[in-house]
Amino acid sequence: MIKVLILGGTTEAGELAQALAKTDVPALYSYAGRVKTPKPQPIPVRTGGFGGAEGLGEFLRAEGFTHLVDATHPFAEQMSRNAVLASDQSGVPLLALTRSPWQPVEGDRWQEVANVEAAVQALAGPRQRVMLAIGRQHLEAFASQPQHHYLLRLVDEPTGALPLPNCTVTVDRGPFTTKGDLALLKRHGIERVVSKNAGGEGAAAKLLAARELGLPVLMIKRPTLATRPEVHSVDQVLRWLGHEVALGV
Ligand code: NAP
Repeated sequence: MIKVLILGGTTEAGELAQALAKTDVPALYSYAGRVKTPKPQPIPVRTGGFGGAEGLGEFLRAEGFTHLVDATHPFAEQMSRNAVLASDQSGVPLLALTRSPWQPVEGDRWQEVANVEAAVQALAGPRQRVMLAIGRQHLEAFASQPQHHYLLRLVDEPTGALPLPNCTVTVDRGPFTTKGDLALLKRHGIERVVSKNAGGEGAAAKLLAARELGLPVLMIKRPTLATRPEVHSVDQVLRWLGHEVALGV
């Protein structure tokens, strides 16, 4: 009997959980625990770190998992690195479920940068109203460009002071719509958008809205991860698990 551990925190992980819930395959969904009210899942859920690659390897062995699916966000670099190591150590096969990065199209005004630090540097210059759509992590780095007014979109209401002196917070969680993001950018007089190249549909709305308004986008490229077996659809994961029968469900 197979038993699957899903490293989650993404729409794709939720879609895989939905698909597996319709089969007889036992599966567990793992959240890091960053969000106060994570989305409910149709399969059992656990929350919190494993204690590094070794802890994850031990967890896989102790709980009798036969398959590991890394469906974390493309910027969850540490977790994905740990998954590769834990798979090697435990012998439990790993498959990554990922989404393709966004590509610029005609009308986009992207400036691509290698990482958060480069994005911070690229913001040197006169005051602007900037949508900083990068989540809660790494906000501190932008404190070295305090001249800007930042619009932050966060999943949870922030507790305590934010590291940016001049900012507005909107609490919301995706998927977002182009219409909604157009209204948001206009309402806050946004002149520039900073985004991680997450890929996927739900978070692309801000880019479509920026294109429509002709706004420049500072696009942070994905970190480079270790080579691992990788697919882009839930169907491919089910096939890997030997559950093609579930595809028609
Ligand atoms: P990270 O830096 O790669 O991971 C840091 C540590 O958090 C990991 O070493 C692990 O702790 C724990 N962790 C991360 N994902 C976990 C999971 N799914 N289940 C159990 N433990 C997990 O990760 P991150 O960038 O902080 O992202 C955290 C979570 O948020 C991920 O699950 C990711 O899918 C989701 N997310 C991230 C972003 C983003 O921009 N980074 C955006 C949307 C959603 P131990 O070493 O103790 O095991």
